[in-house]
Amino acid sequence: MKLNLITVNFSNDALLEKLTGSLKKILNISINTHQLKLDFSDSYSSERGQYYSTEILLKCKKNLSVLEGYKILLVEMDIYVPALTYIFGEAELNGEFAIVSLARLKPEFYMNPTDSEVFFKRILKEVLHEFGHNLGLYHCIDWDCVMHSSNNIDEVDLKGSDYCRNCRQIINRDIVKVF
Ligand SMILES: [Zn+2]
Ligand SMILES: [Zn+2]
Repeated sequence: MKLNLITVNFSNDALLEKLTGSLKKILNISINTHQLKLDFSDSYSSERGQYYSTEILLKCKKNLSVLEGYKILLVEMDIYVPALTYIFGEAELNGEFAIVSLARLKPEFYMNPTDSEVFFKRILKEVLHEFGHNLGLYHCIDWDCVMHSSNNIDEVDLKGSDYCRNCRQIINRDIVKVF
């Protein structure tokens, strides 16, 4: 199983390297990193000051059709879907694509001081969460599980940073399936 981590319209080699290391430990999969540059001005809502997540996902999908394996897009844009004020990320259930926004994971967004450890932990959790959806996982009621839903940043911080036993069993079944 292969996972591609793709920064969209920004670059951060240190982050990608750290994320790759952590994900390899947790998931035991091969990871490649990429950078993508695209214009999303047509997905920007000036009323909201945010970008429409699903459209970004679809546009990236068109541009990355040749890339094999799962693809997790990392963006710095603040993203939304029409039914919600904002989202941390979005994923195709049982699909290959997911998107995670770093905008609201930064402590500075909440007027808190810069904290690279807190920031990184949040990114890791949201990447694992959205990737879990790619692997067929739904939301989990266990607060220690990374698949618990998060409606705000406090809930991101509160939930665990790994899959619970039940979720991991489902993932492992899926990993066998995709080989
Ligand atoms: Zn979710
Ligand atoms: Zn779980």
